[in-house]
Amino acid sequence: MALERHEIVLVGAGLTGMYALHKLRGAGFGVRAYEAGQGVGGTWYWNRYPGARFDSESWTYIFSFDDEILREWSWSEHFSGQPENLRYCNFVADKLDLRRDIAFGERALSAHWDEQAGEWQVSFASGLAARARFLVTALGPLSAPTMPRIDGIEDFRGEWWHTGLWPHEPVSFANKRVAVIGTGASGVQAITEIAKTVGHLAVFQRTPNWCAPLRNAPIAAEEMERIRAGYEEIFARCRETYGCFVHAADPRNALDVTPEEREAFYERLYQLPGFAFWQGNFRDILTDRAANDTVTAFVTRKIRARIRDPKLADLLIPKDHGFGTRRVPLESGYYEVYNQPNVDLVDLRAQPIERVTATGLRMSDGTERPFDMIVYATGFDAITGGFDRVDIRGRDGQRLREKWADGARTYLGLQIEGFPNLLTLIGPHNAATFCNMPRCIEQNVDWVTDLLVHMRDRGLTRVEATPAAERSWTAHANEVASRLLASQVDSWMTRVNQNVAGHQKRTFVAYAGGAPKYRQKCDEVAAAGYEGFELR
Ligand SMILES: Cc1cc2nc3c(=O)[nH]c(=O)nc-3n(C[C@H](O)[C@H](O)[C@H](O)COP(=O)(O)OP(=O)(O)OC[C@H]3O[C@@H](n4cnc5c(N)ncnc54)[C@H](O)[C@@H]3O)c2cc1C
Repeated sequence: MALERHEIVLVGAGLTGMYALHKLRGAGFGVRAYEAGQGVGGTWYWNRYPGARFDSESWTYIFSFDDEILREWSWSEHFSGQPENLRYCNFVADKLDLRRDIAFGERALSAHWDEQAGEWQVSFASGLAARARFLVTALGPLSAPTMPRIDGIEDFRGEWWHTGLWPHEPVSFANKRVAVIGTGASGVQAITEIAKTVGHLAVFQRTPNWCAPLRNAPIAAEEMERIRAGYEEIFARCRETYGCFVHAADPRNALDVTPEEREAFYERLYQLPGFAFWQGNFRDILTDRAANDTVTAFVTRKIRARIRDPKLADLLIPKDHGFGTRRVPLESGYYEVYNQPNVDLVDLRAQPIERVTATGLRMSDGTERPFDMIVYATGFDAITGGFDRVDIRGRDGQRLREKWADGARTYLGLQIEGFPNLLTLIGPHNAATFCNMPRCIEQNVDWVTDLLVHMRDRGLTRVEATPAAERSWTAHANEVASRLLASQVDSWMTRVNQNVAGHQKRTFVAYAGGAPKYRQKCDEVAAAGYEGFELR
């Protein structure tokens, strides 16, 4: 077995791993990154499905730390698509010369803490192993794709793909009978795009979601120059908002205004691009049920107006949660797809799939539905899934998977008691779990780098959260989550996933306190000499 030694082992080379590599290397650490894929970009490397694109304004989803990158990179659309997003990741990797310190095609299977040596040993599927004093993870919040728990998936003789593991070669839908299973954010994007060229499309829906219009548009050269000149202001604005998007919540409560004012406000917001309707809405629509009912009723009317068949509209309107209490998919003509004669919608609650057969799907009533292709848009084991897929063992052989079985426990979502020298750049209960990601990635990477420099400057070699700090952060994360209506809804934020064993009970894994509050807490912890950590 080949064994490598480094000062820091970094796992993952999506945007988080890319920036961490650059920053840690720049601070003089001996760091090597290991990445399961054959290229950089993470999300934008794997999710090549048709229609994959940003929900963030492209010009907010860009690293801010390098003026040259800001000067040289131009976006062609306000919400750019996966090919361009991946080009951006590769552009950054070229600019920063990252690839020389990344081992591609290396999937970490285990990471064990060796108390005696004060080191982590990480073992990869290839047989390679690497030891380092520090293990820094950048495993991705949405990087562990889940397949539905249906028998016979391997029996299907047609083409089948998961949206998060899409092939690099073009996939054609023309003249084909295509099934899409799943109507979350990826499903909504994929269905809209596939419907444009498909022979026949059948959408299998278990849980409808509340979608809002994306309202994408191209960016002309002069407009890009204006954006470039305003980057500083854009980043400053993002720093102030709850999720680091450009959209800030309206300071009023929904019921503070007259029904007419409210309707006019909703109408105006609905015409705006991106997450404006979700993140820029009245401040209480996500916390107060009566307020939420008003916005839910508005979106219900909007959906009904777009679908000709009222029965279909009924199926597409969620009944078990209010608008915005799950991640809102942004769409560009999604509802109109169901007006096409070659598209139908199957309600899996009324009629579950019994099994996949060699030629299609067998439904619970015994009917067979033949298909040429099945697309699984069944999402991810979110936030903790990347960790669960690695056998991570800390002090005394404690398994992280077991520690988090009933709910995540972390300090700042960056460290875990019992797992010394493990720094989780995007762990559960970290603000990055609910963020316009590059904004939070930069903050976390900068903070962790400062911590490691602080330790190096003082000759310290070990960092671990104290039990009290972890207890208190976890209690805080759960408390702020309990104020959100989202905490009472099954979703990836509450780690409910019917396709993952043991993930049927709600436990909030995102951080609901908002990025500014989170940043302030991290700054206070650092200013107090990394309070809550045992450093030695
Ligand atoms: C379809 C889609 C659209 C999205 N759109 C937006 C958006 O508009 N705005 C936004 O802010 N966020 C969006 N996100 C969230 C997105 O994940 C983040 O924006 C960002 O890309 C996360 O970067 P990351 O590096 O932390 O994680 P990732 O990009 O997921 O990268 C993690 C990397 O770690 C690697 N890895 C994981 N486990 C292992 C292992 N065991 N061994 C080795 N390597 C491993 C993976 O291969 C991957 O390359 C979207 C996510 C998806 C799936």
